[in-house]
Amino acid sequence: MTAYAAPVDDIRFALDAQARFGDLARLWGGAAEDGELVGALLAEAGRLAGEVLAPANRDGDLEGATLENGVVRLPESFRKAHDAYVAGGWNGLSFPEAHGGQGLPWTLAMAVSEMFESANMAFSVGALLTKGAIELLLRHGTEEQKRTYLPNMVAGVWSGTMNLTEPGAGTDLARLATRAERAGDGAYRVVGQKIFITYGEHELTGNIVHMVLARLPGAPDGVKGVSLFLVPKYLVKPDGALGERNDLRAVSLERKLGVKGSPTCVMAYGDGGGATGFLVGEEHGGLACMFTMMNNARLAVGLQGLAIGERARQAAAAHAAGRVQGARGGRAVTIDNHPDVRRMLAWMKARTEAARGLVYWTAARFDRAERGGGSDEAARDRALFELLTPVVKSWATDGGVQIASEAVQVHGGAGFIEETGAAQHYRDARVLPIYEGTNGVQAIDLVGRKIARDRGAAARVLFDAIAADADAARAAGETGLAEAVSSGLDRLRGATQWVAGTMAADRDAVLAQATTYQRLFGTVAGGWQLLRQAVAAKRLREEGRGDPAFLEAKSETARFYMAEDMPLAGALARTIANASRA
Ligand SMILES: Cc1cc2nc3c(=O)[nH]c(=O)nc-3n(C[C@H](O)[C@H](O)[C@H](O)COP(=O)(O)OP(=O)(O)OC[C@H]3O[C@@H](n4cnc5c(N)ncnc54)[C@H](O)[C@@H]3O)c2cc1C
Repeated sequence: MTAYAAPVDDIRFALDAQARFGDLARLWGGAAEDGELVGALLAEAGRLAGEVLAPANRDGDLEGATLENGVVRLPESFRKAHDAYVAGGWNGLSFPEAHGGQGLPWTLAMAVSEMFESANMAFSVGALLTKGAIELLLRHGTEEQKRTYLPNMVAGVWSGTMNLTEPGAGTDLARLATRAERAGDGAYRVVGQKIFITYGEHELTGNIVHMVLARLPGAPDGVKGVSLFLVPKYLVKPDGALGERNDLRAVSLERKLGVKGSPTCVMAYGDGGGATGFLVGEEHGGLACMFTMMNNARLAVGLQGLAIGERARQAAAAHAAGRVQGARGGRAVTIDNHPDVRRMLAWMKARTEAARGLVYWTAARFDRAERGGGSDEAARDRALFELLTPVVKSWATDGGVQIASEAVQVHGGAGFIEETGAAQHYRDARVLPIYEGTNGVQAIDLVGRKIARDRGAAARVLFDAIAADADAARAAGETGLAEAVSSGLDRLRGATQWVAGTMAADRDAVLAQATTYQRLFGTVAGGWQLLRQAVAAKRLREEGRGDPAFLEAKSETARFYMAEDMPLAGALARTIANASRA
């Protein structure tokens, strides 16, 4: 088993050079502007990830989660990880100070989360859902709900879950059958079964705040009749103390391919007559509420793809540096001397750094939109965030699976044996294209809501920004990189025109190509981020700032991607064109 070393320098570089964290911090104000503090925060997160969370990763896989007499048990090392996570105040980084958070930009919290997700995804996915539930309450909760639940959730001593899926309702939430009835005292009684509920039951936190979608009597059919309820494991007394246990329980745990340390629960609500729930938002307005949280969660799942890829890449590089096979120039060598292995390692690095740039850049759009008030620029940032969310979720998670697979390959037979840990990364990564909306569903969202609905207007704003960066690269002497990105962009513009122009006339033709289009989009957007990386690295080298070898490697990675991956844009665009003719 190899250790995980948080790539703090790479993360800082991506934040500064690609996401332009400095500009965001100026807009944000406060502690975000303190560069030293940001550096210390990243370093400390890296230490916690490497020393506490990462060593527990294997325990999660081997011991997993178990259910006994209604109690879910996790490895002891998860408890230690949780205690350290709470003690450091990590859960509250980007939440308002009024609720006990630190009020820092979400982009920075995402950079910190990257390290925690790399170190131990089965542990960290619990916090991902808690943060989503906090986001929901911040936007849609009543003042009383915020007062009652947020301080403990922001601190991380209570957790949150998201309860959408049911046996008959996965992608299609119109089929949701869980019911809720008014109890007469302002509360509701919730009855039904939910499946696949991540961290639905466990003992790490004092309370669990479930966000549950259900239907009220007489509700309209379909998704317009879905309401959202807050259903706590323990009811909370007016003075804030925990009261009686609510009528809900974990019936069983799923046996899974990966992320075994994360308890995935079948939940029963209301076996004893009805679980007490509290309406969040308007009656029948539940899905819209849930979606405000899901946009952020989708980007956070894209981040998981990047994170698992980084960890798998590190393991592969370490293995390749130690494994002696074959000879070059009459001397026995480690396998990282062979061109084919070097290609695999370089590709993993390129795909990881492209995803990192894209995730952070997109997260920064969200923060800028939040701080921008009603300005045109804020509206533009919001539109770019929404456009890129399905691209990031799918491209970074597909990338995570592909990198983890390539990492198994670098290990050879040892990769197929559990001891190296390479197999665990591959198994863990595989859920990412499935949950939080399958990647197929992301593709439908991309071509429908994000491209066809505004006839490609938001996409054109992004494409113009990419073209401007390509021009800047040309002016800076990075002609080869600029040409590669411009040529990929031409293909993407062409395919986008086809999507926007064909959707109304032949929806099925577009839907059949949606995933190919999404891959084309990701390939070009990833290359664009590496172009930004190379231009920033060159500027820093010329200014004599930073470690020259580190900066040169950033440029090399960009050149490798343009040679190896960017040409795929041509093939993907041709696939779409062929299919559209057929
Ligand atoms: C480990 C794990 C943790 C999870 N955690 C949670 C959780 O905490 N909370 C929660 O609510 N859920 C959770 N889920 C559920 C997850 O979100 C669903 O599995 C996912 O949304 C897909 O739904 P499904 O499994 O019913 O697949 P289906 O909806 O049956 O989809 C099967 C296939 O058909 C495709 N498909 C379906 N409908 C369409 C369509 N209209 N057009 C085109 N293609 C379509 C899909 O893309 C997919 O490829 C979790 C799942 C797993 C595996």
